[in-house]
Amino acid sequence: MSVIVVGAGIVGLSVAYEALLSGAAVTIIDRDPEGDKASFGNAGGIAVTEVIPLSVPGLWKKVPFWALDPLGPLAVRIRHTPHLFPWLWRFAKVGSASEVRRISGALAEINSRVYDDLVPLFNKVGLANDLFRKGALTVYESESGLRRDRPEWDAKRALGVESQELSASQVRDMEPALGPIVKNGVFTPQWSHVSDPKRIVDVLRCWLADNGAEILQDQVDRVEPRTDGAALTLNGGKTLRAAKIVIAAGVWSAQLAKQLGDRVLLESERGYNTTIASPGVVLEREVIFADRKFVATPLSIGLRIGGAAEFGGLKAAPNFNRSKALVTLAKLYLPGIKEEGGVEWSGHRPATPDSLPVIGRSGPSPRIIYAFGHGHLGLTQGPTTGKIVGDLLFERKPCLNVEPFSVARFS
Ligand SMILES: Cc1cc2nc3c(=O)[nH]c(=O)nc-3n(C[C@H](O)[C@H](O)[C@H](O)COP(=O)(O)OP(=O)(O)OC[C@H]3O[C@@H](n4cnc5c(N)ncnc54)[C@H](O)[C@@H]3O)c2cc1C
Repeated sequence: MSVIVVGAGIVGLSVAYEALLSGAAVTIIDRDPEGDKASFGNAGGIAVTEVIPLSVPGLWKKVPFWALDPLGPLAVRIRHTPHLFPWLWRFAKVGSASEVRRISGALAEINSRVYDDLVPLFNKVGLANDLFRKGALTVYESESGLRRDRPEWDAKRALGVESQELSASQVRDMEPALGPIVKNGVFTPQWSHVSDPKRIVDVLRCWLADNGAEILQDQVDRVEPRTDGAALTLNGGKTLRAAKIVIAAGVWSAQLAKQLGDRVLLESERGYNTTIASPGVVLEREVIFADRKFVATPLSIGLRIGGAAEFGGLKAAPNFNRSKALVTLAKLYLPGIKEEGGVEWSGHRPATPDSLPVIGRSGPSPRIIYAFGHGHLGLTQGPTTGKIVGDLLFERKPCLNVEPFSVARFS
């Protein structure tokens, strides 16, 4: 069977991997296969404990405080606001207690499979030494911060997330670089991090090429169903056909799905970071700074400090003052940090309003399959998405219930 995968980010590559293992003739098309998209510069966390959606009851009380700070954790570019309304409306709607329970259940289910799919993939392609199963540490500046988040920790625990509350001294025993501002923390042993997200996609892409996948550099302008399969039109007008086509084009997938006639609510949630090659401090594991909403990950290429959620559309220029602001915050927690030589980066998270990815068959054709919208969790859920899509391509019963991820939920 011939399969074309549109997109060579972590999701598209993971889909291509599963299709290839199942015996398909695989072509991957990306306008910039080695380019610097979300999959290359993310925080590198295998964040399996993140099972609560972003929209939760009471969130709206916090939003004005965040939005008042021009370099705070959340920003909406004014010019983009009218385009954002349908997405925001749905975001507000899914913030009810019952919806949060439903969505959390689906996130917990997909995240519970992550290591079953990710570890064999990493082992097979030569990334066995690039996964660090050291857990993560969420730290707080006060007892009231931890108290505020306890209901969320309880909800996560009920969904199978292991967590352990730690005192200030226990936190510093684990991460001596953390300064006195840290008053307590929560250790989540199931979390892990990778050596460098760019290395993960580079190694996987090369393995696919070495093992028979064809990688084409081109822009896909249109995808269409055909009676005997599916076809796509490249930027120069050339048409390619395949038995099945998978759209895994990150945040840009929405345009292709829309042309097909499917309604999708997908927005760019731009994130920022700075990677410091010689930071002067050592962290053993990813640290999440809960009060200020950013993270630091010890990658093989340096300490990556990142976060922020900026809704400004795909065309707005990045505001790297956000990267700088996060480094300034990091100095509060890591007093010994040296910021010289930091490399700033930003990328587009493909964000759905309900924090669930879109994985499943398109409305107009079962031969066109969607795999996008993974928001904050694309690296984490990429290999499992690949497994699910592999099942759909080969008409096998999917390894988990895919109904919550259906594109039909936006109609
Ligand atoms: C700051 C930041 C930190 C993050 N941290 C984490 C983390 O710690 N853990 C985690 O799990 N996730 C994290 N994420 C999220 C994660 O990076 C994304 O969810 C994931 O990379 C999305 O992968 P993708 O393959 O869907 O999309 P992308 O990586 O965006 O790849 C899409 C590809 O499709 C190609 N493409 C698009 N349209 C077309 C077209 N029409 N024709 C041809 N090619 C096309 C693009 O060129 C691109 O290469 C983070 C994201 C950001 C921005």
